[in-house]
Amino acid sequence: MKGLTVGQCSGIGWAGATTCVSGIVCNKQNDWYSQCIPGTATTTTSTTTSITVPTNTTTAETNQPTSSGTELPVGTLYTGCKVSGTVAITFDDGPYQWTSALIDSLDAAGAKTTFFMCGKLYGCIYDYANVVKKAHASGHQVAAHTWSHSDLTTLSVADVQRQMTKINTAFQKILGIKSKWMRPPYGAANAQVLTTPRKYGLQGCNSVATSQSIFNALGNDPKIVPLEHDALQTTAQTLGPWIANWAKQKGLKTVTLSECMGEPIPSGQYTTVGGATTKDSTWVC
Ligand SMILES: [Zn+2]
Repeated sequence: MKGLTVGQCSGIGWAGATTCVSGIVCNKQNDWYSQCIPGTATTTTSTTTSITVPTNTTTAETNQPTSSGTELPVGTLYTGCKVSGTVAITFDDGPYQWTSALIDSLDAAGAKTTFFMCGKLYGCIYDYANVVKKAHASGHQVAAHTWSHSDLTTLSVADVQRQMTKINTAFQKILGIKSKWMRPPYGAANAQVLTTPRKYGLQGCNSVATSQSIFNALGNDPKIVPLEHDALQTTAQTLGPWIANWAKQKGLKTVTLSECMGEPIPSGQYTTVGGATTKDSTWVC
């Protein structure tokens, strides 16, 4: 068998390939996620200076949550929470028509979550600018899931950069921020992708495995990062709010990805560039 060069190779609910290419072992991250990582991909040194944070920044929102902590290095894959008692629910592939009502449900449950957004997938992000603003203003973390949901391992370095620049340009125009976090579509990242200066939040569980029975079977402090899809009606209307409620009943705090990682907020989440703009003719996909 040829085996995987990168990506998930085991975990609860995982039905894909389970062997890595010769020379790489399937590294267990937690019960939910094991991955094939090339040797260079786990290096956490020398990449922390890759992000330039402007010093003359202003935040787009004045009611954003803040907290102190230690910012994680970029160029690294993260798969589970570090802070005990927290769960970081993540929603991928939006914004779409179900996202706004999902935010209402989450806010009503007192849950902060993370939205890994695309620029152009189910919808065009500029057409959902008010939803993006609503998520951010409610204290949810807004993060990147590439512009058009590409498998980054099939692209050139320049095209990977374009995928990230384009979605962050949209975030800058709409929110006045750029995301430091991204999740590669299909969980597909290789050493080349990891050279782009981002923190990579991979899933703590496979979307196929997000059944209520699996959540109910978890231990008291699973530190999971569930991956859901807010572009799916059933997830946005039923499963997403259900997970938030499940966490609450277990006494777990549903927080943003950065908070569950113990990062400072908002500096762990965003390179704040300031200057959100109003809608103009460039707000198109
Ligand atoms: Zn996706």
